[in-house]
Amino acid sequence: MNAAADSYDVVCVGGALVGSAAAYFLSENPDFDGTIAVIEPDSTYEFAQTSRAQNSIREQFSQPVNIRISQFGMEFIDRFEEVVQVHGHAPEINFRGTGYLFLAADEHDLANLESQMEVQHQEGAHTRLLTPGQVKDEFPYMDVESIAGARMGSMREGSFDGWALLQGFRQRAVHNGVTYITDRVVEVKREGSLVTSVMLESGRSLPCGHVVNAAGPRARVIAHMVGLTVPVEPRARTSFMFDCRTPIDHNVPLTVTPEGVHFRREQHHYMTGGIPDVDVAIDYDDWNIRPDEFEEQIWPTVAKYVPQFDQILKVTSWGGQYAYNTLDHNLIIGPAPDLSNFYFGNGFSGHGMQQSPAVGRGLSELITYGEYRTLDMTPLGYERVLTNTPFLENVVI
Ligand SMILES: Cc1cc2nc3c(=O)[nH]c(=O)nc-3n(C[C@H](O)[C@H](O)[C@H](O)COP(=O)(O)OP(=O)(O)OC[C@H]3O[C@@H](n4cnc5c(N)ncnc54)[C@H](O)[C@@H]3O)c2cc1C
Repeated sequence: MNAAADSYDVVCVGGALVGSAAAYFLSENPDFDGTIAVIEPDSTYEFAQTSRAQNSIREQFSQPVNIRISQFGMEFIDRFEEVVQVHGHAPEINFRGTGYLFLAADEHDLANLESQMEVQHQEGAHTRLLTPGQVKDEFPYMDVESIAGARMGSMREGSFDGWALLQGFRQRAVHNGVTYITDRVVEVKREGSLVTSVMLESGRSLPCGHVVNAAGPRARVIAHMVGLTVPVEPRARTSFMFDCRTPIDHNVPLTVTPEGVHFRREQHHYMTGGIPDVDVAIDYDDWNIRPDEFEEQIWPTVAKYVPQFDQILKVTSWGGQYAYNTLDHNLIIGPAPDLSNFYFGNGFSGHGMQQSPAVGRGLSELITYGEYRTLDMTPLGYERVLTNTPFLENVVI
C-alpha cells in the first residue's frame, strides 16, 4: 500500500473505533489492495464516545442479527491479542466474563425477557430465566423483593478494555500501511451518484474512491455534506464510578434494572449509568457531566437492588454521548442506494463498541466485493431510513 498518496481508494471520516475497525479489516483483507486514509481531528480521542464508554459485550439482544454481530465481537476479542500484533506486541484486551443480568419488575417484563430469550436461544446464546429465589441464591447480596424474575447471560458476556480495542485496530492498520491524517473533513464532494473527494479543514483535497462515515454522534453532519440525512443525534450519557464500603465477594454481572439503570464491577469499584429523565438531542460539543442524575435517579435505584450500595463513595464521573438512532436504536450500515460509494457506519445507540469488529469486517466486504461475504447485515442498511421502516432493537441499555 502507498502510505503517502494524494488520493486514496478509501477515506474514513472519523478515526476512532469504527473508522479504525474499517481500516483494520480492509487492510487485512488479501482481496483489497487499495490505499486507505483515516481522517481524525482529535488525535487524543478526548471527545470520542469510544473514550467514554463502559466497554461491555452481550448476546442479549432482541434482533438475531445483533446477537450474531456481538458473537463475532466475542470471537474477535478472544483472538484479539494475536491478530492485532505488531512486532510481537498487542494491547491487552483484559476481557472479564461476568454475564449480564436483566431484572424484571413484573410478569409483563418477565414475558418480554422470555420471548427475547427464544430468539437468543435460536442464535445459540446461553441465556436463562431465573426466579427471584434463584437470583438470591446466585447473587446473595441482592434484594429481590421487588422483582418478578430475571434473565442471566453466559460468561461469554462481560467487559474489556475498549481503549485497547481502538489502539489494537489502529496500530495494526498503520502497520498495514493505512495513513492517519490529523485533520477534519469539512466537505465531501459528490458528482451524481458518486462521491469523488473530501476537503479537509487544512485546505487539502483528497480525491477518493469510497468514503466511510464513521463520525459517531456527528454522522448527520457528514451525511448532509452529500445531501443525505441520517436519524442520528447526540444524547447525553453520564458514567459514575463508586466505591462500596462493604465488599461483595460474589460475581457482579452487568445488571440492568427495570428503571433502565445499569451497574457492574470495574476493578475495585462499581461503574453505573442510566437514561436521563429528559432524553433529548444535545449540542455536539456538550460533554458535560449531569451530576444530579446520580443523587436523584441512579443511587436510589442501585441501593434498592443492592442494599449495601446504600453506603458508597462516589469516586469519579464523566460525560459521554450516545450516537442515538431515533428511528430504531440500531446500527445503520452500508451505502445509500443512490450514492454507491458512500457508506454509513452510524447510529449504534450505545452498543457500537462490541459491534465494531463485525461492522469493520462488513464495511470491508461491501467495499471490496460489493456484498457481505460472512455475516449478512442487510436488515441494518440505509434503505429503512428512506422508507421510514424501523428495524427495532428492544434491548437497548
Ligand atoms: C457512556 C457510554 C457507554 C457505552 N457503553 C458501551 C458498551 O458497554 N458497549 C458497547 O458496545 N458500546 C458502548 N458504548 C457505545 C460505544 O462507545 C460507541 O458506539 C462506539 O465507541 C462508537 O465509535 P465511533 O467510532 O462510531 O464513534 P466515536 O468514538 O464518537 O468517534 C467518532 C470520531 O469521528 C470524529 N469526527 C467527527 N467529525 C469529524 C469530521 N468532520 N472529520 C473527521 N473526523 C470527525 C470524531 O473526532 C471522533 O473521534 C457506550 C457509549 C457511551 C457514551
